[in-house]
Amino acid sequence: ERVRAQFGGVRGVLNDRPAVYAVASGKGGVGKSTVTANLAVALARTGKRVGVLDADVWGHSIPLLFGVDRAPVALGGAMLPVEAHGVRLMSTGFFVSDDEPLIWRGPMLHKALQQFLDDVHWGELDVLLVDLPPGTGDIAISLLELVPDAQVVVVTTPQPAAQQVARSAGRMAADLGIAIAGVVENMSQFACACGRHTPLFGAGGGTALADGLGVSLLGRVPLDVELRESGDIGVPVVAGRPDAPSASALRDIAGSL
Ligand code: ADP
Repeated sequence: ERVRAQFGGVRGVLNDRPAVYAVASGKGGVGKSTVTANLAVALARTGKRVGVLDADVWGHSIPLLFGVDRAPVALGGAMLPVEAHGVRLMSTGFFVSDDEPLIWRGPMLHKALQQFLDDVHWGELDVLLVDLPPGTGDIAISLLELVPDAQVVVVTTPQPAAQQVARSAGRMAADLGIAIAGVVENMSQFACACGRHTPLFGAGGGTALADGLGVSLLGRVPLDVELRESGDIGVPVVAGRPDAPSASALRDIAGSL
């Protein structure tokens, strides 16, 4: 336990435990990792000490979103997170090459997650965001077992079908007795420079999901070219283009956590 505390594992006994938010979605491609990255940077910009644990082992996009291709260094048997845009990062993506198939089984995943929580020298953190794989899988269950006071943030698009799959992710948390911090609706209406707002992916999914889970809608992030471009160049939009419409929505959501 002394080693754990010394190396700052987030479950360490001597540490003040950070607030842990697990970011979940029903399916891939709804912007879960993009939202995670930007919430982290927005929180860091308010002076909080923030870590992101990328547990999306099949789609680890956190290193790319933060523009990081350095592997973490080891310090006396513990790994140091990589720091980018004011956020401390750890990802399975740092340890595998892109074309290397990764075969993870439940117990391995559990162990990897435990190591990322306990053997990473996170230092003092106020907030840890965990980017979960899409769906309701072993990792989500492991995380919620390892960190029972984690809260879940569910990301969905406005489409009715998308919010129905997202609901299962929320329900799983509820079944495990885990608190749901709220719902983020991403890819909400498209704000055209012409002034018109178009609900490209429909409307109402975020509210329907929040109502169905009995939690609040934390906010809506519009479809925004600047958000997508920022992700592609590895500079989260709240850091690189703070005036973008998506950036202000993401800052507001971070402020509500
Ligand atoms: P997930 O983690 O749910 O699989 P990603 O965060 O990887 O999804 O996002 C998928 C793609 O959608 C990325 O190319 C990202 O830049 C883009 N994207 C996410 N949210 C938005 C948005 N609000 N507006 C425009 N593009 C977005």
